[in-house]
Amino acid sequence: MIVKKTPEQIELMARAGKILAEVIREMGQAIKPGVSLKELDEMAERSMRLRGTVPSFLGYRGFPASICASPNEMVVHGIPDGRRLKEGDIFSADFGLILEGWHADSAYTFPVGEVSAEARKLLEVTQEALAAGIACCRPGNRLGDVGNAIQGVIDRAGMSVVREFVGHGIGRSLHEDPQVPNYGKAGRGPVMEEGWVMCIEPMVNTGGWQTRLLDDQWGVVTADGSLSAHFEHTVAVTADGPRILTAL
Ligand code: MG
Ligand code: MG
Repeated sequence: MIVKKTPEQIELMARAGKILAEVIREMGQAIKPGVSLKELDEMAERSMRLRGTVPSFLGYRGFPASICASPNEMVVHGIPDGRRLKEGDIFSADFGLILEGWHADSAYTFPVGEVSAEARKLLEVTQEALAAGIACCRPGNRLGDVGNAIQGVIDRAGMSVVREFVGHGIGRSLHEDPQVPNYGKAGRGPVMEEGWVMCIEPMVNTGGWQTRLLDDQWGVVTADGSLSAHFEHTVAVTADGPRILTAL
């Protein structure tokens, strides 16, 4: 069941989203060679709590941290540990927080210092795919239009879109209906309506689309060891078109 949000509720979610964007901007300055994933997790949690919000992920289905920390070939859901970032890495970080009962969810892949041309292209393509998906979030469009637009950008770049993980509705719960695949056929699926709020979040690999779950039962890596990137925004479908609630 898709829970539509009123304009007042969307304003509350926009406040949560604005705070999340501030947290992410602050984190962006801390992401550099030498910093450990655990240190970044602690910084993010402190930054969220200082702003009167609570991390969405901490304790979610038993997840032990406030951010997902997924470097290089890791796709999503990495548990932050003592590993340190180094020059040339890419680092996918997924952040969620709760303000007055409303969730916001956003992810970025950061270059750590100078990265390879392949990594730079991956980050560009994933952001372009996210923008193309968001542009389709309008009343009257179908959900398949979103996935189709995202997949089109990725296919044209000769990269692959991850299948096992998808975007989702969001509101009083972190994950609500509908599921929002990053692939699909235009003109298919439910018709989007004013008041839907969704997380659009393409995950893109430079190699094949297949992934593998790590032994910790959380971290997901590319099956072939290729690089992976992840960008995500929380987006409201409004009469005026898409509104990005987590815009920086
Ligand atoms: Mg997320
Ligand atoms: Mg999400």
